[in-house]
This record gives sequence, C-alpha cells and structure tokens, in this order.
Amino acid sequence: MTDSALPSLPDLLDYEPEAALALLRAWMAERGEPSYRAGQVFGRLWQRPVDSFEAMSELPKALREALAQSFRITTLELATRQRSSDGTEKFLFRLHDGQLIETVAIPDGDRMTFCISSQAGCALQCAFCATGAMGFQRNLQPSEIAGQVRALRMLTPPVIPTNIVFMGMGEPLMNWKAVGPTLTLLNDPRALGIGARHITISTVGVLPGIVALSERPEQFRLAISIHAPSDALRKTLMPVNTKYPLAEVIEAARAFDRRVTFEYVMLGGVNDQPEHAAQLAQLARECRAFVNLIPLHPGGSMGFTPTPAPVITAFAKALRTRGVETAVRRSRGLDIAAACGQLRTERLGRRAPVAPEVHGEVHVA
Ligand code: SAH
Repeated sequence: MTDSALPSLPDLLDYEPEAALALLRAWMAERGEPSYRAGQVFGRLWQRPVDSFEAMSELPKALREALAQSFRITTLELATRQRSSDGTEKFLFRLHDGQLIETVAIPDGDRMTFCISSQAGCALQCAFCATGAMGFQRNLQPSEIAGQVRALRMLTPPVIPTNIVFMGMGEPLMNWKAVGPTLTLLNDPRALGIGARHITISTVGVLPGIVALSERPEQFRLAISIHAPSDALRKTLMPVNTKYPLAEVIEAARAFDRRVTFEYVMLGGVNDQPEHAAQLAQLARECRAFVNLIPLHPGGSMGFTPTPAPVITAFAKALRTRGVETAVRRSRGLDIAAACGQLRTERLGRRAPVAPEVHGEVHVA
C-alpha cells in the first residue's frame, strides 16, 4: 500500500469507543473471525496503544495484514522534544500532511497537565497570541487531538496525563465536530479514562460551541478568554469580539451549569489598570466566574509588555476585595517557548474557599 492511499482508509482513532467497536465487530463478522478479536484490536487503540496493526502481536499475522488493508491508526510523528529547566516539556508533532502542532506537558507535584492543540494555526488573530499570527491552517481530527495524548503514552517511559487543557494551538469550539468526539475519547474509561472534571476547554467565547458543551452530560470544565472587561478594549485585542460581544459571552457563562473560569492575560498598561479590575469584577460576579490572571508569556508577544508582578498582585487583590475568587498563574517553560504560554498557576494570598481539586486543572494550566 502506498502512503498516498493511506488517508482514504477510515482511521480507527477517529471513532468514539462504541462506534469503533461496532465497526470492528462488523468487520470481524464479515471475515468469520470471532468477535473477541474486535475487543483485542480496540484494546490496542487507547489503553495499551501501539503504533501499527503490525505491532498487535496477539493477533494472527494474516489478520494484522488484513486490518492494515482496511483501516488506519494514525500515529503522530514526534518532530522535536524540548525540556525546560522547570520540568515542563514541549513536543512538536508532524502530521501526515506536514502540519506541525504543539503539545506541552506540565508536571506539578502529583499532577501532570497536558496542554493540547485542536487546530493547526488559528483564525482568531488575538493581538498578543503567537498562534494567531500564524493564521489558520486546518482543523485537527480526533485522532490528531486525542492522538497527542496517545503519542505521549507510547513514549518510553510513557508520559501520562492527569489533566487536560485545550490551551494549545487553535480554538477548540471552532472545531466542535472533532472536539466533541475527542472529549469522549479522553474521558471514556475504555479509551483514555481522564475524569471530565480534569478536562478544561478554553475558548474565546464561541457561543454555539458553549451551548454544545453545556449539552454534554459530563462535567467538562469551561474556561473563557476574556482579556478585556469592555467591548471597546476587547475588540482591539480580540477581533472575535465583534461576532461574540462581551455581554453575550457573559450571558453564556451565566447559563452554563458549571462554574466557569475567566482567563485574563495581563498586558502592561493596556488592561491592567484599577478601572479594569473594577469592570472585570463586575463581569465575574454576574456569572460567578473564577478569575485566572495570566502573566503575558513573552514568546511572540507582538509589542506588548508584561504587567509587572506587583501590579498583577494589586489587580488580584482588587478583584478579591470585590468578592471574586482569583488566582495568578506562574509561567512555565519560559526557556523553551512553551507557546500556549499561560502555564501553571499559583494562588496568591489566602487560600480560596474551594477544594484544590475543584479547580485542579487551572492550577497547572
Ligand atoms: N483559543 C482558545 C484556546 C487557546 S489559547 C482560547 O483563546 O481560549 C489558551 C490561552 O492562552 C488563551 O487564554 C490565550 O489568550 C492565552 N495566550 C495566548 N498567547 C499568550 C501569551 N503570549 N501569553 C499568555 N497567554 C497567552
């Protein structure tokens, strides 16, 4: 089989567990194979992953060859792996069409958070974001999104996540078609088995996507990139604000049945003044949001300067005195340009009145 023929075969890693099993059972039945063979193949997709049918050594050789004629299992090619002095690792994967995507693995105590990509590039053009500057290349498939987690599990030794944040490249809610099934793959105990409360979708506020996410029965977490507390300012930083203005985003956050997190990247002299804190507190209170203040990651900051640490502290305090729960993230992986940029959080000041696990994933996001 030639390489160019490969993409036309169905990729078993693009299917949710139920569908993949149904497909495999039907395929086995057609060939007069016992149905337990379907379970054997399925077990090699996510739980004990291998990079090819050939490597499924518990199957007869002829069956492995026949599977490879009918299906694909996409395995992401690791292009580079960089390790930061703080233990954060960045992985660059090359996709079958040459696109490059990033995944960041952030260890923090007994937690390991993966920051994963949902698109190659991004269409949103947020003024301070390095991915926005690349432009949009294409949507990723479930096999390429959940596949980032799979690929790290296949390393020796394996890197296994406790938490997932969709804060890598791309806007996950502009790729709901793939992100929806990916959430199932990440969460389903027959696939990657990561608790829904440990999976956070970060969005600029794509309203139909927020509705779709809220219709899921699982307790996935929602983080919204606010970054400015007024339409006038937000429009200058985030062109998407024209399509989804702040009031509608706040209303969607209020309607969401779980508590949301606001992400707010601190841009020196731009959105970090006392009046911004007052406006932001008002918005957060309207929808009972938790606020994460994010120091600007200097990599690709496009003319913006980070807010000085004491100003961030004062801003956090201004939010807290207005009754808004607030955390300040500490940047991780600065020395390896960990491009999702907004890495680990540290709470300043007194402990917030929620159990750490409630906001577990934002600690290390
Ligand atoms: N499109 C989604 C998810 C990807 S970006 C979203 O915008 O939420 C994840 C987070 O990183 C967003 O809050 C984004 O605004 C932030 N971010 C982008 N560039 C950054 C930088 N240079 N420093 C700090 N945070 C950054």
